[in-house]
Amino acid sequence: MDRKTAEKNLSLPLSALKGVGQRRSALLEKLGLRTVEDMLYLFPRRYEDRRSVKKITELVPGAPAVVYATVCGVDVRPLPGRGRRLITCRLSDGSGFLDAVWFNRRGLENTLAKDTPVALYGTPSLRSSVFEMTEPEFEVVKDKGEKSPFAGIVPVYPSTEGLPQKWFRGIARALVEQYHNQAEEELPSCLIEKNALMPISRAIYEMHMPESPESWKEARRRLAYGELFTLQLTLAASRKERAESSAVLLKRGALFEAMTASLPFSLTASQRRVIDEIFADGASGRPISRLIQGDVGSGKTLVAIAFAAGLCDSGAQCAVLAPTEVLAEQLHAQTAKYLAPLGVGCALIKSQLPARERRAVLSGAADGSLSVVTGTQALLSDEIKFKNLGAVIIDEQQRFGVRQRARLLKSGAKPHLIMMSATPIPRTMALTLYGDLDISVIEDKPAGRAPVETRIIGRDQLAKLLRFIAAEILSGGRVYWICPRVEEDDGSDLPAAVKRFEWLEKKLPPVKMSLIHGQMESADKEAAIAGFRSGLSQLLVGTTVLEVGVDVPEATVIVIESPERYGLSQLHQLRGRVGRGTRRGLCVLLSLLPEDNERLRIFASTNDGFEIAKADLELRGAGEITGTAQHGLARFRVADLQKDYLLAETARDDAREFLEKEGLEALPCAMREKIAAMRAEELS
Ligand code: ADP
Ligand code: MG
Repeated sequence: MDRKTAEKNLSLPLSALKGVGQRRSALLEKLGLRTVEDMLYLFPRRYEDRRSVKKITELVPGAPAVVYATVCGVDVRPLPGRGRRLITCRLSDGSGFLDAVWFNRRGLENTLAKDTPVALYGTPSLRSSVFEMTEPEFEVVKDKGEKSPFAGIVPVYPSTEGLPQKWFRGIARALVEQYHNQAEEELPSCLIEKNALMPISRAIYEMHMPESPESWKEARRRLAYGELFTLQLTLAASRKERAESSAVLLKRGALFEAMTASLPFSLTASQRRVIDEIFADGASGRPISRLIQGDVGSGKTLVAIAFAAGLCDSGAQCAVLAPTEVLAEQLHAQTAKYLAPLGVGCALIKSQLPARERRAVLSGAADGSLSVVTGTQALLSDEIKFKNLGAVIIDEQQRFGVRQRARLLKSGAKPHLIMMSATPIPRTMALTLYGDLDISVIEDKPAGRAPVETRIIGRDQLAKLLRFIAAEILSGGRVYWICPRVEEDDGSDLPAAVKRFEWLEKKLPPVKMSLIHGQMESADKEAAIAGFRSGLSQLLVGTTVLEVGVDVPEATVIVIESPERYGLSQLHQLRGRVGRGTRRGLCVLLSLLPEDNERLRIFASTNDGFEIAKADLELRGAGEITGTAQHGLARFRVADLQKDYLLAETARDDAREFLEKEGLEALPCAMREKIAAMRAEELS
């Protein structure tokens, strides 16, 4: 079959198929399934191993099995409650009797007429010496003798309400059998050979209807490799393109020297090394594309400011992007603190800026009088044009999608890109996820920081906690109190920041408090943070808007309510709000399950962000913690960066080598189109 016909067949809408009515095709669409091809690539969530076929007398209570038997009779009994009933079907296979029990199913007794041959799958139990299966799956066996797909390794699909698993399985099976051969091979044959992969059509077939666990593993490896290779090739292509373009030369000029000399402390060895790496990189005339990883509080901001100073030395402009307004505000305050006295124009752009101020920032960016512009997504609006954008700095990059970062890059010639992330991930994984970036790691923290101590307590210790907080504040400390949500969810008893604030005001009358949450006007948020920063208020009650980046060195204690709701890396970020000065920091987890919580205990036992990220990876998977859940490029169906990291490394090496030796043009059509689409999306 030629490519065109195959393409046409695979893009056949599911609604055009027999047996898929309007209602069901709408439900399929909800699952993102529109065409035959979508269905081929929707892989089972798990499998049921139904290879164990047993005679009734061979059944073992508790061990799931398939039984072939004929119906002896059906008994229907009403149960209390409208329309509720119990259907019991007695079956025999000559060796013994089995009772199958279902609830409610309308019309089932008609399907199970006397002498109907059926196949059943379920878990047997023994009830007054007769085997019984509750709600077994079953199928009327039409052609005896034919090897029924019922008793093999059976796929279980992610189902939505209204789409019965059995029906879904039937459709999937029919489509896979008819169309799998038309799936187009996307990998170059040299790589299929080199890595001993099965052809794509075989892999698709095996994923849906595996012959054995071993062949399924091979199919999975084939598909995961394909996904990883596609991602790596896209990253490698971006990398190559950057390496072939030029950018503003970065140098240590007067501004850089003056800025570093003005610091009230000396840079840590790591900070100095990373700054060296950046400047060595930027002296090559190629655009920098570098990720700076460092634990919370390791001082990433200063590295970024030093970079910005060097960039201004070359007369170029710098855009600084933060995920929240609170953080943008703070970043702007810091850049302005170090750079404005040196005559560098710094400004903040945000959504609720008065029109006049906004115009001033826009014109300053356009005429070049502003050198450093900081903001949130607002910076990404097409309205803002830079005269000579030389670099983009992205703080807390794990919070951003790839697309956003690319949009900014489009606006200048070829700006340098510096990204900062406080979610440290293992180096191999970082290389795989961010294959187009160079990576610098800040390993140490500024001297004199005592590790933050973490304590897990229960509600019964609230009174004691309040006494402790009062004493802490009396001796000059400042306290964050983090609540999960602002308003109480319908029915749930989650504590609300607003309520907690009112409650605390009553309990600790002499303490000055402020409140911050997502639904407040941004001016009020700023006022709350500013008050806490200056010491006007000593207790700041808030939500996770405080999660990333907020830097108030005088803060000593953070109380986190319902910590079980957060990922460990997120908790670590929150904990990183304290222990930033010289006073010892304390993190109190106010838990509903203080005793029985292994996860929190792991967290409390270490202050090492890498360790925590590792534990988090195991608990939640890579996508969640690296922000790659929204990483448009890494929408994997099969691959898992943690499980498949060796495969990912192979794919990365293969991709780079292929690009070097053969080039994108040598790829099979299907892959070339896929990569073009991905890169277009990245740049749109
Ligand atoms: P993060 O890496 O979490 O973004 P920050 O850049 O916010 O950390 O730095 C945390 C705190 O440490 C800030 O108050 C900053 O001024 C301070 N700091 C940064 N570098 C040093 C240093 N070399 N010596 C002492 N304090 C530093
Ligand atoms: Mg930071």
